[in-house]
Amino acid sequence: MDIKRTRSCPGRSDKKSDFETQLYRIGLAAILFGGIAGWIYLRVIVPRFSPPCALYRITGIYCPGCGGTRAVEALLHGHPLLSLWLHPLVLYTLVIFGGFMLTQTLARLRLGHIRGWKFHNWYLWGALGILTVNWLLKNILLVRFGIALPLS
Ligand SMILES: [Zn+2]
Repeated sequence: MDIKRTRSCPGRSDKKSDFETQLYRIGLAAILFGGIAGWIYLRVIVPRFSPPCALYRITGIYCPGCGGTRAVEALLHGHPLLSLWLHPLVLYTLVIFGGFMLTQTLARLRLGHIRGWKFHNWYLWGALGILTVNWLLKNILLVRFGIALPLS
């Protein structure tokens, strides 16, 4: 009886790398289209219309995204600590997404012995945790102590 054995196991690691390839492609598209949309939002829409936060305007409390635009602008102007204070999810996203994309790119270009970061669920749980803690903390500071986010 001839038993044919395969050298590569079509197991978890192959599926996992296919998943990372899909994420990498989505990431490249997000950089391209998100970069264009982000530039238009920051350079055209915000200066002309300065869209206010509807939840903040109506209720007087911050929404989970409040401070995000100012955090991006602070980061673009080279102020990472201010960005961290305004909305820590921006810096977190830069580190996690940037690290994933950079290491995946270097691995695909076969530069050195760099292995691309793998996707982990904790990336998303971490983002959700940061979003929640930031939202609660900023509203406690605002409502209880009167400490508001800087306007610019
Ligand atoms: Zn808001």
